[in-house]
Amino acid sequence: MTQNTVTTQNTVTTQNTVTTQNAVHTQNTMIVEHFAAARVPTSYGSFVAHAYRSVADGEEHIAYVMGEVEGGAPPLVRMHSECLTGDLLSSLRCDCGQQLRAALAMIAEEGRGVLVYLRGHEGRGIGIGHKIRAYALQDVGLDTVEANEAQGLPIDSRTYGVGASILADLGITEMRLMTNNPMKLDSLEDFNLKITERIPIEIESNPENMRYLRTKRDRLGHTLTAAL
Ligand SMILES: [Zn+2]
Repeated sequence: MTQNTVTTQNTVTTQNTVTTQNAVHTQNTMIVEHFAAARVPTSYGSFVAHAYRSVADGEEHIAYVMGEVEGGAPPLVRMHSECLTGDLLSSLRCDCGQQLRAALAMIAEEGRGVLVYLRGHEGRGIGIGHKIRAYALQDVGLDTVEANEAQGLPIDSRTYGVGASILADLGITEMRLMTNNPMKLDSLEDFNLKITERIPIEIESNPENMRYLRTKRDRLGHTLTAAL
């Protein structure tokens, strides 16, 4: 599930091995390396894209930053897990793509905020191949949790140490986090990041993702208020 263990003030598991009191904020602790930054105009407005490379596995991640996010009031932050089918290929089986676009729109509306796009989080960490296999299992009756279990895979193996390190590098210590997933709140707070407010990011369900959203609410503890 995870390769090593980090011992910080709170014990959290991630892919790096670090033993300091404050893994993320210690400058000598290289969890991510800032690789490049450039302006990326989008249909939502202009962002600065910061590319990061994870030291442990070489995986590259990206943070879209709008406005001045260091200091001042806690900015809007979305910690988005990669979903190739939902984000890019128009799948209706999940709500990822709509959440991604809603987050960019909300940041643009405030003129300030960060979207961290975490690679390697497909299917809550099982990868695109196993995710497609999980979809096939869901089509014969399993739910999204059971479909991972049936493959002998963890229900959710995502960790947020890399994302937390990216935020720390951007100078963010406090934020308003856009998420429906309480596990993300806890995970980030484990890294000494303060979440001053949770901003819901609920999208309208469709017949294809209703069961998936229900499972996220009932089995994974997501806060979803809309009728499903
Ligand atoms: Zn998705």
